[in-house]
This record gives sequence, C-alpha cells and structure tokens, in this order.
Amino acid sequence: SWQLSLAVILVLTILGCFVYLFRTIFKQDKLAELRKAFVNQMTHELRTPVSTVYAAVQALQNFTEKEDIEKRAMFQSIAREELEHLSDMIDNVLQVAEDDHTTRKQLHYEHIHIEQLISKCITRVSVGSSMQDIQFDYENFVTGLLYADKLHLGNVITNLFDNAIKYGAKIIKVTTQDVRGGEFIAITVSDDGIGIPDTYHELIFDPFFRVPRDDNQRGFGLGLAYVKQIVRQHKGTIKLKSKKNSGTTFIIKIPKNYHL
Ligand code: ADP
Repeated sequence: SWQLSLAVILVLTILGCFVYLFRTIFKQDKLAELRKAFVNQMTHELRTPVSTVYAAVQALQNFTEKEDIEKRAMFQSIAREELEHLSDMIDNVLQVAEDDHTTRKQLHYEHIHIEQLISKCITRVSVGSSMQDIQFDYENFVTGLLYADKLHLGNVITNLFDNAIKYGAKIIKVTTQDVRGGEFIAITVSDDGIGIPDTYHELIFDPFFRVPRDDNQRGFGLGLAYVKQIVRQHKGTIKLKSKKNSGTTFIIKIPKNYHL
C-alpha cells in the first residue's frame, strides 16, 4: 500500500541522512587528524634545523683567531646543510600550498630523451645521497622522444628515487618502455625497501599523508602529492604495487605527444 511505500521511503531518507552525516564527520575527523600530524611534524622539522643552525653560528662567533680551521669548517658546513634542508622544505610546502585545484603549475613542454633525463636523475641522487651503497639498474626500451616538461618530470623521478632510498632501498630498478602501441611511455621505479601496507595505498598520494611509522624519517607527506599532480598535468597515470616488507613499485604512464 502507499502508506507502506511512504514509510519505506521515509526510513531510507532518514538512513541516508545519517550515513551522509557520519561520512562528513568521519572526513572531518580524518582532516583534523592530518592537520594535527602536520603541525606536529612541522614543529619538529622546523625547530631542529633552526636550533642546529643557531648553535653552529653561536659556536662560530665564539671562535677565536687561533682556533682550529677544521672545526670552524665543520660548523660552517653543518649550518649550510641545515639551511639547505630548511630551504628545500619550505619549497616543498609552498609548492603544494599553491596547488589547489584552481592553480596548476605552468609547464614548459619540449622534446626530451627519456634515457638522458633518467640517467641525469640517477647521477643527481647518487651524488646527493653520497651513495649509501645504493645500486641503480636502469634499462631503457623507449624509441623516439617524449614531449614533456623536463624540469618537473625530472623532479618526479628524483622524488621517487629519494623516497626509495629514504624507505630502505638497496637496489633501485628502473625501466622505461613504450606501451599502448608506442603512444605512451611507462616509467617503472622498483625498490626493495620496507614497502607500503595495502591499507595506505589509496591515501599515499594525498597531501600531508604519511604512513604512520616510528622511524625518524623527515618529511611532510608532500612529495607524492606533487608527483601525482605533475603526472596528471601530463595526462598520465601513476599506480603503485607494494606489500609490507617486500618493496615498492611505482608505474607512471604518460602519452608521448599529448601536448604537441
Ligand atoms: P614523505 O616522504 O615526505 O613522508 P611522500 O609524499 O613522498 O612524503 O610519501 C608519503 C609516504 O609514503 C611516506 O611517508 C612513506 O611512508 C610512504 N612512501 C613513499 N615512497 C615509499 C617507498 N618507496 N617505500 C616505502 N614507503 C614509501
């Protein structure tokens, strides 16, 4: 009868409202949690370098003429390194802060040799990490050129390498190959590090998200958000395969000539 239908509709509507309400509350809880984690991390991240630089500069000021040149150089380089790190972090935060959905980064497309770009990134990371026994295996099967933003795509790849090293890789395997009949290229970065548990795969690209771990790794959870944004702007996709304790693989696919 119609009364019954009305009752059912009413119950369903009320139920729907509840579900909606719960989801909104849940989302806000999650946001609040992220915000709290971010502020904690920020406090830790900023305070440590600032107080280190402060201490180093103070020590330098107290040095007398006769004091050991080596010691002085050490404090100078500590201050420099910390300042560099601070500056990187500020860049990172600003980079993502300006990337809400309305502002996209201005990309500059040009024809690039992917093999050259990747090789450069490998060198950059190897020098930067002073080679903590990291081995790179790189194989390239791409033919022809890719129309892309060299600077940002280079940052994307460097970000993946840096993460791999940060999260325990000893060997990083990289391949570049033609896919989908040569219209796309696939860049695969595979590491043998600590891996990412399944439950976090969906969240890993969210700004400020970090896998809760009690290692002392520095970071704001912005690297992968940046990576995804740049890949998207190239009309590409990024996926990951990973299991806890058995390494992580990121697969990026981008069209070779979309913006041509
Ligand atoms: P950050 O490294 O600053 O925390 P990212 O956005 O680069 O931020 O990465 C988000 C999170 O994803 C990291 O906190 C880390 O837990 C996890 N992660 C990223 N790359 C890897 C990797 N190669 N292996 C294991 N975990 C990773």
